[in-house]
Order: sequence, then C-alpha cells, then structure tokens
Amino acid sequence: MKLSRRQLLGLGAAGAVGLVSPLAIAQARGQQIRFPRGRRPKNVIFFVFDGMAMSVPTMVDHFRQMTDGKHSLWAEVLKDPRYAVGLQDTRSLSSVVTDSSAAASTWGSGRLIWNGQLNIYPDGTELKPLTKIMSEAGVKCGLVTTTTMTHATPAGFAVSCVSRDLQPLIAEKYLDSGVDVFFGGGDRFFNPQRRTDKKDIYAEFAKRGFKVVKTRDEIAGLRGDKLLGIFSDSHVPFTVDRNNDPELRRTVPTLAEMTACALDNLKGARNGFLLQVEAGKVDHAAHGNDLAGMFWDQVAGEDALRVCFDFAQEHGDTLVIATADHACGGPSLNGAGDEYFDSTAGLKSASNFRASYDVLIPLLRENKTRGHVQDVIEDRLAFKLSAKEADAIVSMLDGKSPFGDSSFFGGLSSVLGMILGNHNKVTWTSGNHTADHVLVTGFGPGSELVAGLTQNTQFFDLILATKGLRHENPRMSFEDAKRAHEKAGGILEELSAYLSPDDDCMCHS
Ligand SMILES: [Zn+2]
Repeated sequence: MKLSRRQLLGLGAAGAVGLVSPLAIAQARGQQIRFPRGRRPKNVIFFVFDGMAMSVPTMVDHFRQMTDGKHSLWAEVLKDPRYAVGLQDTRSLSSVVTDSSAAASTWGSGRLIWNGQLNIYPDGTELKPLTKIMSEAGVKCGLVTTTTMTHATPAGFAVSCVSRDLQPLIAEKYLDSGVDVFFGGGDRFFNPQRRTDKKDIYAEFAKRGFKVVKTRDEIAGLRGDKLLGIFSDSHVPFTVDRNNDPELRRTVPTLAEMTACALDNLKGARNGFLLQVEAGKVDHAAHGNDLAGMFWDQVAGEDALRVCFDFAQEHGDTLVIATADHACGGPSLNGAGDEYFDSTAGLKSASNFRASYDVLIPLLRENKTRGHVQDVIEDRLAFKLSAKEADAIVSMLDGKSPFGDSSFFGGLSSVLGMILGNHNKVTWTSGNHTADHVLVTGFGPGSELVAGLTQNTQFFDLILATKGLRHENPRMSFEDAKRAHEKAGGILEELSAYLSPDDDCMCHS
C-alpha cells in the first residue's frame, strides 16, 4: 500500500494541525466524515485492550527486547508510518474516569454514557447501538472477547440496558442485537442449569439459526452464517493459567484463535463486516494488581491484534482500529537498586510467572503459614519472599489489612501487588480505573482519521461513515443525567431478579 505524504499526515489540511484529530475537526463542524478518495473501508475491526495503560505495552516491549530481541506489536506500530497513531480521551457522562460499559457504549452510540449503563440514559431513554444500525444496513457483525460474552465491552456495541450487571438479561437481548458471531466466556448466562430463571438461551440462539460451540476443537474449521461460541463458565481463564494447564489449553481457544475464526466467517460478507475484539482481562488483572495475569494477557492480546493486521494487510479493504477503553491500576516499572540495576531483572522475571491470582490465591488460602506462602510464591512466581513479606500475606489471609482506611488499597490483591512488587519492581497506583488518555492506532483505508487526539464519542460516526450512514442518538447533559440518576435510585433493586445468586462476574468494572 502506497500512501501520499498528505494521506500519511491526515485528512487534507487537517493533517497539519498536529495532535488535533481529523475526526474531532469533522465533529466540531457538524460535518459528515469523509474518507480520502479511494480510502473508504468495506470492513472494520475494532480491537479493544480493556484497561490498558500506556505503561503496559511499554513493559511488554522492554521484555520482548530482553528475551527474544523483538519489539512488542505496539512498538512496531509506533515506528511504522503505515499506521496512524494517536491518543483517546476516555471520559464518560458521569466522570472523567470511565467504566467499561460507559466507554464501550460511547463507541456504540456516539454519546457519553453514565458509568455502569449500556446505551441508555439514567431516565430510561434508550440509544440505538452500533450493531443494530450496521446490521439493518446489511453489515455482518461479530463480537469476540476473553470476558463473559455478556460483559460491558461487547455489550456496549450491541444492546441497551439499564445496568451492565444484568448479564442474564443481556444474553437475551443479544438475540435481537443484529450480531452474527459471538465468541467468549460466560456459560452461566446462557445455560438453563446455571440461570436462576432456567431459560435455555442456547436453545433460543439455535432456533434463530446459530451454530453453538463450546470447546476449542469445535472452532477449528468452523463455518456458519451465525455462530455462538461460549468457552468457559465465567470469564475465559487468564493466559498465564491457560499456558500452565494442559486441560485449559486443550479446551479453551486463545483470543487469536477466536479472532481468526470470526474473521474466516465474516470475510465473505457482501456488505462488509464490523468485528469488535476485546482483550478483556488486561483490565481484570490490573484491578487485582496482578502483574502475571496482566502481562501475559497483554501478550495474547497483541497476538490476536497481529491476526487482525495480517488480515487487513491481505484484504486491502479493511480498517483496523486498536485502542483501550481506559487505563487501569496505574502499573509502572520503577527504578530499583543502585543505578536502577534491579529494574531490568524485575521485569525479566515475567518469563518465570506461572500463575495469576485466580490460581495463586486459592493455593495461598490452603495453609495460612509463612512457610506455605513462601513455597507457593516460589513454585508459581519463582522468587523467595522474606519472612516479613510472607507474614504480611498471612496476616492479610486472616483478614487483617495493613492499609487502615485507604480509599485505594485494602484487599488481599493490593497486599500481594505491593509485596510482589518488591521483587518484580512493578507497583500500582490503585485497583481502579484512571483518567489517562490511551493509545489509538489505525491500519488500512481510513486509518489516517484516527491520528491525533480523539474523543471516544467520535468512533461511532467514523464506523457508520464507512457505510455512508449517519445516526443521531439523543443527547443528555450531565445535570439532567445526574437528576435522573438520583431519581432512578431503586431501579437496580427491582431488576435484581435477573442476577444469578452466585454471580461473581461483576467484580471487575
Ligand atoms: Zn475495569
């Protein structure tokens, strides 16, 4: 693909404006987004690294250079002029710090959304989501994720719902979402034995012509117009745990495998396709201050993104946009030791990680003694805790938090994050999302439009414009939304009947 200097710089004269995005200029002027001549894509892949602070691909890049002499995919992108690069402002309607449902709904509706809600305002006004509009225009749609299928990020493209937590209801709403391919986790929201209302959502999908698959071997060579693949009870396991468990490797596909299968089935679509892919557990691990979980899911996310870039390279009609919905946890590799000599070894220790906290914490709970804690950490993370460090973890296992009334630290995972940080040299600012701008890259026709600083609301218009479509969802001011939110207070309790009693899929926001 050969681009003119003008195309590389941006959209005509707008390219000279530096960090102001061509999308922002079109939106500010109320203009229809226009693609440079011959640069309107047929297909769009929207790739989300959920919760990816900029420090995450930075760490992976340093690590890759140390271990295999290569760069991370994000570093390759930043150095290659064929890729547009920018930053995104991720704020929501309720806060400058967004949650994933507001973030994905903002991409899905073109409007800022209240944290915790999906394509709806606090007064109940529903917004029409992206996959509904695109599917009505004959575009095939797909959602692929490592979270539950019904989690905030995929749902934000496809449904309106008063709360992201109503995952059993979201599973039902997917039936009318216009989405043709679903791959992810969350059997508990589809399976009649796992739902409190005993509804068989798999059967409902089958009635609508969906092929339903549940294991890794079923997606090899899988073909069908409509596909529902659900590969785990809750979220898909962390990559570091999958890598160290032969049974998980046998039964659970990687994000790259799910992505490749989705692309194989969407690529022939006459009017093109829209595919959202989410590396969703980078965020979950960052909430838990779990470096092993975060690090290897970031690597797996980059593997899946490479599948998308390779597809776009081969099919010149496909635009890939990759970004994060927000940053999370504020992880950073710190200078440590004389001349910061120890930092490098700390990061390099990621190659010895063999468990996320999902595996580690149940093991630690088996025997709350100093020796057992030291043995578990040495076995799974390959370093030796001091007696004092192990005692702090034992004390936390007994429910004694050393953090007093800290707003941002408290649980066992905070303590683990801090103590393990003594060894891997990575520390965290909290277990919450942060307001940092996030990376954006684009590849393929139209990618020049995502350069510069974009607002999260702008991607909706861009994606619709690939089909010459426009849609104006209703607007709501912060003041009106706040009033409506206060008035709506009890609505979640009324709807709580939809929640499974053993649902633990809401702990990550
Ligand atoms: Zn989150």
